[in-house]
Amino acid sequence: MTAETGQSSGSKPSDDAWAKLVPLDTRFSDIEIRCNDMVICSEIKPSSLGRHEWCRITKNLGPDSATLHNKSSDAILVDEAIIPKDGVVDIVSGSEIVPGPGGQGYLMYRFTVMPAPESRTQLLKISIDPDNAKCSICLNVWHDVVTAAPCLHNFCNGCFSEWMRRSEAKHQHVLCPQCRTTVQFVGRNHFLQNIQEDVLKADTTLRRPAEDIAVLDSSASIQSNLIIGSKRKRRLSTLTPPPEERDSLRLQCPQCVATIGGYQCERHGAHLQCHLCRGMVPFRTNLQVPLHCMGCDRPFCGAYWSSVNVTHSESTPVCSRETFRPISERTVTRIPFTTHEMNRHEQDITQRCVAEMGKTVQEVAAEWFRRFNDREIDRSRMPLNHAEMITASTHVCNDCYDKLVGFLLYWFRITLPRDHLPADAAAREDCWYGNACRTQHHNEEHARKRNHVCRPTRGNHHL
Ligand SMILES: [Zn+2]
Ligand SMILES: [Zn+2]
Ligand SMILES: [Zn+2]
Ligand SMILES: [Zn+2]
Ligand SMILES: [Zn+2]
Ligand SMILES: [Zn+2]
Repeated sequence: MTAETGQSSGSKPSDDAWAKLVPLDTRFSDIEIRCNDMVICSEIKPSSLGRHEWCRITKNLGPDSATLHNKSSDAILVDEAIIPKDGVVDIVSGSEIVPGPGGQGYLMYRFTVMPAPESRTQLLKISIDPDNAKCSICLNVWHDVVTAAPCLHNFCNGCFSEWMRRSEAKHQHVLCPQCRTTVQFVGRNHFLQNIQEDVLKADTTLRRPAEDIAVLDSSASIQSNLIIGSKRKRRLSTLTPPPEERDSLRLQCPQCVATIGGYQCERHGAHLQCHLCRGMVPFRTNLQVPLHCMGCDRPFCGAYWSSVNVTHSESTPVCSRETFRPISERTVTRIPFTTHEMNRHEQDITQRCVAEMGKTVQEVAAEWFRRFNDREIDRSRMPLNHAEMITASTHVCNDCYDKLVGFLLYWFRITLPRDHLPADAAAREDCWYGNACRTQHHNEEHARKRNHVCRPTRGNHHL
């Protein structure tokens, strides 16, 4: 039996299929699932009249998932797990179903949930006049577009950064170059960035020469959202601010109220909001210490405040130095939670391998970091931004450090000869989907029985 043709019988038919079983062999056609509860039958042979119930698929309440009930006389495979006769399993969009006990000779189906009618409208094409995608400072199509609030006008990052520097040099509010509204907030606009790219793709004559772009990029300084103070003057003249001003107090950083380390914030100076403590930190360029984590581009205040010896403040939260410091100064005491795609069986095996070698996680991480630093490791799959620029002196946040350690431990495990693994781990077969396997996250038995610290050998994963 190689060919399976789907037949359905169900209770509440509706016009549109909400899901499909898509055969991985394109010579066969999709089985559409139109009812919330549907029994799928198979024909033994296309000519035969004998029809067998194969499985029942019931839509779950949550989006994109269903319950599969094995109605056939034999076991079937769902995401490589064996579902016995009358067994029940949850399936999600992407789950792979083999209608027989072994992979051999059976057609594999991928369960695919169709987009809901609401999200189908996302496929609408939008047409835009390139004139509406231009920066009013340089009059070109935006490059690395940023949006100013509250007026929501858009500019090139480089153009607006330069404008902001000039306003600050003149101790003035930052006014919108287009409408003169006082700017209180500016940030990169990823949605408009897509439009910017589409416009330049549609009309390549609108593109600027590479040299112009390089100059623009060199003055671009907005990496994350900037908050630009504008209410501080009143605060300074009032000893006890009225409650409605409490919000604006969040704009006060230690250097807004006092000169520290030879620096005091401009009255309307721009601030970043620390991702960790949500406190304000002055936005300064040409600093020795970074304000953004290289791995995630999010702002962190710990390195800045420790560089000017500020450890606490009345007006704003302040992070300690430990939260944001160079990789070379960080240590790891246990395997981070995110390691091996959060598969705790693999984490446990790695832990045992490390212990077996008489080492600590820190020693293994340090050894692999040396290889990383010596560029012995391919960084293309690294889960951090700017992977090629990361060195021992790069400041990273706690999350990014955990991701880095996880990446190093992946290399430790994948290069470990099989006979160095504990016997129970060495006996396991590799999962076809390797570290990209989704089943390892919802099927405990599968996660335990197959090795997932390996490259995918199946599926459309580019990992
Ligand atoms: Zn511009
Ligand atoms: Zn404006
Ligand atoms: Zn300040
Ligand atoms: Zn980070
Ligand atoms: Zn902070
Ligand atoms: Zn797997």
